[in-house]
Amino acid sequence: LKKKAKAWEKEANDVNLAAVLGAGIMGGGVAFQSALKGTPIIMKDINQDGIALGLKEAKKLLSKRVEKGKMKPDQMADVLNSITPTLNYGDFKNVDLVVEAVVENPKVKDAVLRETEDAVREDTILTSNTSTISIDLLAKNLKRPENFCGMHFFNPVHMMPLVEVIRGEKTSDRAIATTVAYAKAMGKTPIVVNDCPGFLVNRVLFPYFGGFIGLVRDGADFQHVDKVMEKFGWPMGPAYLLDVVGMDTGKHAGEVMADGFPDRMKHEGTTAIDVMFDNNRYGQKNDKGFYKYE
Ligand code: NAD
Repeated sequence: LKKKAKAWEKEANDVNLAAVLGAGIMGGGVAFQSALKGTPIIMKDINQDGIALGLKEAKKLLSKRVEKGKMKPDQMADVLNSITPTLNYGDFKNVDLVVEAVVENPKVKDAVLRETEDAVREDTILTSNTSTISIDLLAKNLKRPENFCGMHFFNPVHMMPLVEVIRGEKTSDRAIATTVAYAKAMGKTPIVVNDCPGFLVNRVLFPYFGGFIGLVRDGADFQHVDKVMEKFGWPMGPAYLLDVVGMDTGKHAGEVMADGFPDRMKHEGTTAIDVMFDNNRYGQKNDKGFYKYE
């Protein structure tokens, strides 16, 4: 993944203040990582519960660092103070780069990105942490699509080094360069990829979930599959991974992949993911999925 600096990398704008939209699993993680590595960040959600969850997660991660002696309590306070929670777009005029991390639904993302575009400066870079939705589709209704690209983190954000930076048809070099520089400032390893449903990683991961769905349909026990995949050498099996990702996100992302690649990723009938989702078993986010987490 190591490559020589490209000419366009010089076009990066400074990111002195970032913002994240959505304080869920991913938004909370992005806020924590940005603040930890020194870029203050505004964290916006639509409800106070969302904000509270995002801040709780950041506090938990920081407390662990303090317990392990990796950080002093006053440093923890500084990091927390550099995350500004909000329910409105009040301070967005000072924001240099925005990471959109709301639910994996093209209509919701479209609306959120358009309102954000109206709230920021003309040179602010807008990015989406979508797992699967095409960047060109999300850019369709934007006034400044040149300022927009994908910035796809992996879960949990503080542990996973990779960030996919996705170049849409109209994305400028400045947008890519700024996003790559911000990812590096967050201690991550960015790779620039072209646009398509699922980008690079999820084009590999979703067929794997498809294999899992098929095995369960054929009668396999999900716990057995998980144990076998762990013995194979993976850090966790597919059922546990779906619990970590969140069944709602997994289901919606799976639908985008099936629409994008119907011949390869469409599953007939009800899948194990549908069964979990329909029974309100969203995974770790609500303490029950394939497994229970109480
Ligand atoms: P989540 O359900 O944990 O969080 C979504 C948050 O967005 C919620 O707090 C919700 O209140 C908030 N929200 C909804 N509408 C909003 C709006 N209009 N304005 C502001 N906030 C709003 O979801 P998540 O798992 O964090 O996923 C968020 C995005 O990140 C999705 O696009 C998902 O595909 C992507 N992603 C998820 C994972 C994963 O493993 N969960 C990994 C990579 C990328």
